[in-house]
Amino acid sequence: MGGGIIGLVSAFRLAQCGHEVTLFDPDPAKGATWAAAGMVAPGAEIAPGEQANYQLELGALQAWREVSSMIESLIGEGLTIEATGTLFVGWDASDQRLVDRYALVANDFGAVLRVVMRHDNEAMFEGITPRINEGLLVEGDAWINPDQIVRLILASLEKLGGRVIAEEVLSVSGGPDGVQVRTANGDFHADKGIVATGASGLPDGATSLVHQVRPVRGVTVRVQGLDRSRQPAVRAFVRGRAFYLVSRPGGYCVLGATAEEKAEPIIEVGELQRLLRDALDVVPELETAPVLETRIGLRPATADLEPFFEVLPTPGWAWSSGHYRHGVMLAPIAASHAVEFVGVEK
Ligand SMILES: Cc1cc2nc3c(=O)[nH]c(=O)nc-3n(C[C@H](O)[C@H](O)[C@H](O)COP(=O)(O)OP(=O)(O)OC[C@H]3O[C@@H](n4cnc5c(N)ncnc54)[C@H](O)[C@@H]3O)c2cc1C
Repeated sequence: MGGGIIGLVSAFRLAQCGHEVTLFDPDPAKGATWAAAGMVAPGAEIAPGEQANYQLELGALQAWREVSSMIESLIGEGLTIEATGTLFVGWDASDQRLVDRYALVANDFGAVLRVVMRHDNEAMFEGITPRINEGLLVEGDAWINPDQIVRLILASLEKLGGRVIAEEVLSVSGGPDGVQVRTANGDFHADKGIVATGASGLPDGATSLVHQVRPVRGVTVRVQGLDRSRQPAVRAFVRGRAFYLVSRPGGYCVLGATAEEKAEPIIEVGELQRLLRDALDVVPELETAPVLETRIGLRPATADLEPFFEVLPTPGWAWSSGHYRHGVMLAPIAASHAVEFVGVEK
């Protein structure tokens, strides 16, 4: 239940293990997954108090490479995965202090960082304002393209005989004979059920004694501009705010991201203005770049900011959520929990 990145990759892995899979979502991959930049970047995501997430995320890139091989052997096309690293920069002196503070935490977590200067690495600073001449490089971080993942996973799922039902689940139940799902058009039965509805939380009929998720709204803006696809993704602190730029081949750039403790799926003028202002301060040559689209999503966050896979008291059901800023990165790991829950390969 739920066809965001967590539900999709889980459904694919289950189908690939020989299970008969039905995925319910009225609008697959249009939740948080739609807004995501696609960074598989344990280093860039380091934050105070989030060491457990960092340790988990260290396995994510390899897990994605394995999913890519599985997809490729099935449909002849694999995922684009670019391990370009991340370049951290600060816009002014106080932002530079935030980079230094990030470095302290990252060093403490055991991440490998390197100071890089513009005069030694002109290409790495391409497009970045000339007032920034120093950065911190985090090697090993990567990006993937969530739009491509969704397309290839849906094709793979279809090839494996999986069904996608474009309907909202209204309620669920479970008992000794398996699980039931109710939609406006009828009841469906299965042996096991997984809720992967992101920030929407649990449907009627399912309960958790342990977890709650809350939405943290985020916006990304896609522009056609700078091709930095061979260079590290940029993470900047600008006037105390965090900004990033991920560039794909051909100059398609994802600018992100806002983070608001709000649930309304709207983009506020001020929110968008701050993001674009930060973008232009760090990458001034985007001034004339055509805006392609804005995207919005609600990140599913838990109190401790850690993801979970919970076997629910509702018989036959599990809940996979709480992936917050890291759901694209962690989807193959969430999918492994799903496989473990439903059963080993047939
Ligand atoms: C701006 C932004 C940028 C981000 N960038 C990154 C990034 O670079 N790297 C990274 O790793 N993560 C990133 N994230 C986080 C990542 O997008 C999320 O953690 C991830 O998408 C969560 O996936 P999900 O499948 O749990 O939720 P979602 O993608 O929100 O999917 C939930 C799905 O459940 C469906 N659903 C809800 N209720 C029902 C129902 N009753 N019946 C049926 N279906 C239902 C919805 O339609 C939706 O499709 C970003 C998030 C945002 C907002």
